[in-house]
Amino acid sequence: MTDRDAELAAAVDAVRAASQVCVSVQRKLVGVETLEKNDKSPVTVADFASQAIVCRMLAAALPEARVVGEEDSAALRAPDQAPLAAAVAERVGEQVGGAELAQVLDWIDLGGADASGDRYWTLDPIDGTKGFLRGEQYAVALALIEQGEVVLGVLGCPNLTAGGSAEPGGGVAAGALFSAVEGRGAEVLALAGTGSRGQPIEVTRLSSPAEARFCESVESGHSNQDESARIAQQLGITREPYRIDSQCKYAAIARGDAQIYLRMPTRKDYREKIWDHAAGKLVVECAGGRVSDAEGRVLDFARGSTLEHNRGVVATCGPIHDEVLEVVSRVRAAGVS
Ligand code: AMP
Ligand code: MG
Repeated sequence: MTDRDAELAAAVDAVRAASQVCVSVQRKLVGVETLEKNDKSPVTVADFASQAIVCRMLAAALPEARVVGEEDSAALRAPDQAPLAAAVAERVGEQVGGAELAQVLDWIDLGGADASGDRYWTLDPIDGTKGFLRGEQYAVALALIEQGEVVLGVLGCPNLTAGGSAEPGGGVAAGALFSAVEGRGAEVLALAGTGSRGQPIEVTRLSSPAEARFCESVESGHSNQDESARIAQQLGITREPYRIDSQCKYAAIARGDAQIYLRMPTRKDYREKIWDHAAGKLVVECAGGRVSDAEGRVLDFARGSTLEHNRGVVATCGPIHDEVLEVVSRVRAAGVS
């Protein structure tokens, strides 16, 4: 087994275990009631548990691994958060043996590495928390960055199906896991399966953007939907946007459920986080697609924990990318008028 195979196997195992916990927490959400009370604790429990599991499992398999995770345990260590911390430890215990509370808190903090140096992992323990709370799409996203380049990515997508396409929302979902290793293809695996190898996936072969389906955030605060509607119109796209939370959008492009992903900035000062894009970007590229920011620049993962030099994201099935960027540029230059 090469080092890369060992890293892939460890990443797939860790994302699988974390995703299982997210599935069981999301199943217990009582939908409307939870949302009415604006109670974010279920997603908080799953978020922390997911990070603890991934960090613990990676550390066990790859002792040198440094992880840049979205969460840290500070809030959980406050005395008034003891019930929440206990709930997190219980969830972690479903997947990892010997999960004492104190250890679980330390495992969460294994995700406290700086996004600097030659080699580190990025982790979003639950990407798309709003989708998670709506009972819709979310992802566990783990990627390995070497010398500023993403070289391995794994996306656990519990509410996508491993075979064929899936719409967000309803239905019983079998769960899909997407993996990509630089220089190899991208693959889809059943979330409930075993092993780290799956079926190859490829982007759609499309010559004209007008035939494309485009995807974007459900949340209008995360992506300017008015702007993307104008871009789609100018590209001649007539299909409705495919709105789906989290890096499931990258998975959708990679396996041909959609052909264009538009993430148009809503604020000038917002900087995308590396853990929100690293795994997904590689999955699309290894499936034959292209990824850039909204201004056509490659996503630069060598600038710390944010994509400091980038604005927004455009991902496509490939050959149409430059044409899409031209229209993006024109529409952005024209503004709202
Ligand atoms: P999505 O599910 O694609 O809408 O994206 C979810 C991610 O959006 C979260 O992980 C946040 O880190 C990120 N996010 C939060 N605020 C913004 C914003 N203003 N613009 C873009 N992304 C954001
Ligand atoms: Mg996220």
